[in-house]
Amino acid sequence: MRTFPVVFTGHVDHGKSTLVSRLLLDTGYFPDGKLTELERAAQRRGVPLEISFLLDSFQVERDQAITIDATRIWFCTAARRYAVIDAPGHREFVRHMVSGAADALAAVVVVDAAEGLGEQTRRHALLLPLVGVTRAIVAVNKMDTVGFSAARYAAVKAELEALFVQTGLTLAATVPTVARDGDNVARPSTRMPWYGGPSLLEALELLDGSQARGGPVRFAVHDVYRRDEERILVGNVGAGRIQAGATLTFAPSRDRARVKRIVRFPASDEPAVAGEAIGMTLDHPIFVGPGDVASEIGTPPQIAAAVKATVFWLDRVPLAIGEHLRMRCGTRDVTVVLDAISGAIDIETFEERPTAALARNDIAQVTLRGLGPLVVDLHPAPLARFALYRGDAVGGGGIVRTVVARSDAPEGSAVNDSSLPPRVTALDRMRRYGHRGLVVWLTGGTAGDAPALAAHVEAALFFAGAVTAVVVAEERAAGGARLAADADDGAAARRCAAAAAALADAGCIAIVVAPGATRADLAYARDLVPGAFIDVRLRARLAADADGVDDGTDMSPAERESAADVVIDDDPARSTRELLALIRAAAAPR
Ligand code: GDP
Repeated sequence: MRTFPVVFTGHVDHGKSTLVSRLLLDTGYFPDGKLTELERAAQRRGVPLEISFLLDSFQVERDQAITIDATRIWFCTAARRYAVIDAPGHREFVRHMVSGAADALAAVVVVDAAEGLGEQTRRHALLLPLVGVTRAIVAVNKMDTVGFSAARYAAVKAELEALFVQTGLTLAATVPTVARDGDNVARPSTRMPWYGGPSLLEALELLDGSQARGGPVRFAVHDVYRRDEERILVGNVGAGRIQAGATLTFAPSRDRARVKRIVRFPASDEPAVAGEAIGMTLDHPIFVGPGDVASEIGTPPQIAAAVKATVFWLDRVPLAIGEHLRMRCGTRDVTVVLDAISGAIDIETFEERPTAALARNDIAQVTLRGLGPLVVDLHPAPLARFALYRGDAVGGGGIVRTVVARSDAPEGSAVNDSSLPPRVTALDRMRRYGHRGLVVWLTGGTAGDAPALAAHVEAALFFAGAVTAVVVAEERAAGGARLAADADDGAAARRCAAAAAALADAGCIAIVVAPGATRADLAYARDLVPGAFIDVRLRARLAADADGVDDGTDMSPAERESAADVVIDDDPARSTRELLALIRAAAAPR
């Protein structure tokens, strides 16, 4: 028998536990005598009977189950078995949904008829679509407290309809109930003759229970096994059907291959369908790894560099702009940066208010930028859903709304010709490293000072998270005496310049120690990295150096000083400080 997992949610005290208990009671889940036992106990203590106490007898057992398994309660009808996901701590449920540990096919939302929509009703209605629950049945409960009023029911129903339209949740049915007494739960009510619709249980039975998802083929590669000469891609068919002989394209590489064989047990020639876990072999070897997504050629997923998404945040520690997280979409993990928050959604008004960080339980529209290609579909396709991990824990999740940059698009363009190879731009590097690439060219100083200064400055930058390198042009013998100046007419300085420029292009802060640079060498080096070159002259501490020991340059110390971008003092502590300030300003992202 197929299991149909359904999550029960609702504002606290609106009657969720009572409704679940009533459903279990009226479908014969509880052993005979259990209710009588409760009734007697209630009588003895002179308190009204709370049938939700029936659930408590299971609570202990459930609490001991270490797992995520919120679905230890089932009830059966002739048609199917329902797994009840009771979401008291909705946070846990949400975590399980986004991490794939739970998979509710529908929700029952309980709303108190007298109170109307509660804050949690609104939050859940917003949240459910974000975790992949797209339809819900609403029980307008405690109808006895509003005198079974058809008008009150209609008013709450209208409010719900408006809410569901706003959140994109499908309202499969609304049912007026009295959970406490069982009206319209598993059996019809005689107290609301104006209601001609199904009971809650009937409404559940009417929901399509096939878990098969339509839409274009999606196969997220979970792993690749090698057996003899064969490589078997293992994964889940997320949508569509896959048959031997079909040509598939794999994202993000776009490599193509035909399915040679579908590997499963027991073997069969039937096409693999959504929901099935299979292995497959390909007709020729291509490079495919875990996290890649196979599709049919005309209907690939998006390969994105950045997406706009609706996310929810669960962690106690707020999520701030600029933070790095791991985004898991399908089987793919990519580090993403929270680039922007366009607004946190106000639960009451659905308006977006500006914020720089997401607090616990916030739901917001954001921009996420991948440090690698994101392979996604747009909501409501299944591959639009993702979880956000902070460290090893699920911190939140969400759905992809739009792609704002294709991963293979040239800078600034939203769309591009997919035949172009991908390109990592200076902007990409700057965003990852947090600074611009730069060449800092040091000359002058008292013998040995420039290399020491370079080392200090590099260490300070590096340990603050920068990408750095030191390029030294000239060997120095022990004791600080210079070796003979390069006799190769500046070839060494130009090699240095080229190496430093390549490093700067790769996003690095390259500190060059090349005292023997001529005017022409410096001009050459500067031209290689337009706008990213600092010519630093270190003023000599010792007269001997200032007098111009032959370091190969064609300039006098005075000429050198006037040509340099900056002249800094040859005092070890101060020069490090000054130079760092200079570099930070020049390398700052802009
Ligand atoms: P939960 O917090 O949503 O799980 O709410 P409970 O199921 O614990 O119910 C809260 C209170 O509402 C309890 O005292 C229930 O007996 C009461 N209750 C639940 N359903 C009904 C109902 O249909 N009518 C009335 N009058 N009270 C109800």
